Amino acid sequence: MTNRALNFNAGPAALPLEVLQQAQEQFVDYHSAGMSIMEMSHRSAAFEQVNNETQALMRKLYGIPDNYKVLFLQGGASTQFSMIPLNLLQAGKPGAYVNTGSWAIKALKEAQLVGETVIAATSEADKFNRIPALDSIEVPDNASYLHITSNETIEGTQFAQFPTLSPAVPLIADMSSDIMSRPVDISQFGVIYAGAQKNLGPSGVTIVIIRDDLAASSPKHVPTMLRYDTHAKADSLYNTPPSFSVYMVNLVLKWIETKGGVAALEQYNRDKTKLIYDTIDHSGGFYRGFAQADSRSVMNITFRLQTEELEKQFVKESEQQGFVGLKGHRSVGGLRASTYNAVPLENCKALAEFMTDFQRRNG
Ligand SMILES: *Cc1c(COP(=O)(O)O)cnc(C)c1O
Repeated sequence: MTNRALNFNAGPAALPLEVLQQAQEQFVDYHSAGMSIMEMSHRSAAFEQVNNETQALMRKLYGIPDNYKVLFLQGGASTQFSMIPLNLLQAGKPGAYVNTGSWAIKALKEAQLVGETVIAATSEADKFNRIPALDSIEVPDNASYLHITSNETIEGTQFAQFPTLSPAVPLIADMSSDIMSRPVDISQFGVIYAGAQKNLGPSGVTIVIIRDDLAASSPKHVPTMLRYDTHAKADSLYNTPPSFSVYMVNLVLKWIETKGGVAALEQYNRDKTKLIYDTIDHSGGFYRGFAQADSRSVMNITFRLQTEELEKQFVKESEQQGFVGLKGHRSVGGLRASTYNAVPLENCKALAEFMTDFQRRNG
């Protein structure tokens, strides 16, 4: 057995060991082609098969209706912050944004460079420790769209349910840190986008799930590479795709299938985080969860100790015991455990035990 760290990194993040081993087996010689998948033409039959199968697996496992396109793009979720307004923000019709924290703000700032925006709800006054109540979200009738960040990776908050909008206003979600971690009703959304490097694979590929009419509505002035219709028409093969990353997503999707699909993963993810949230809640205030209870993320668990000194000690000792990635994001401090799809339950159990033990020694 290889020596695997207890990896709680926020992104890029843990991948399933089985997937890494399979990639290793196929690394030098992909299906007897005499070359790696990275060395092949993206127009080859072998890569086209990977591209098509990855799309088909996404559709099947995530229940994506036929009137949506599944695109594999580059530039990360951060490029989607620009592509969304460039393609979908119409003159005189503001882009509405729910401001839930660090990533929502970045998305909003890019839209402000493109056109008119409005903040439909914000939890800034509470330091973004909660998701605004759905009935507090105010979307103008003439909004081009409503943008949400389904899971705020840095603050550790997550939408439990999604707002229902009038059919004229598409709901757009940055799902970078919770895509395929739970079933969602895709038909509620106009666009879902996510960098792959948290729940679905390595960095380098960005998944975009977009309703057909929205994929076909880009204004004429938008540059070719930044248009959804360019990639939709070409099945994500307009230019050279991140072929190795798409291949890795393909393997991860097959792994999700063997795990029983997305609904089974949701239960698994909930079981994992319960171990850690319970430890926080039963610590008598030694550990303090950052997010309000009804907004807690099942992907990123954020918590604090009484002093920064103690937090430093926690990180140091955890690292000595093989844990990786428990330091909170530099912008907010504290501690964070990211428990994406591929993080095993045993690792969460080990973390909960370490936390209890650390409290016993320092409480
Ligand atoms: C990580 C992350 C991003 C940034 O993704 P990149 O692929 O690095 O551009 C955007 N939004 C959320 C919610 C994230 O977690």
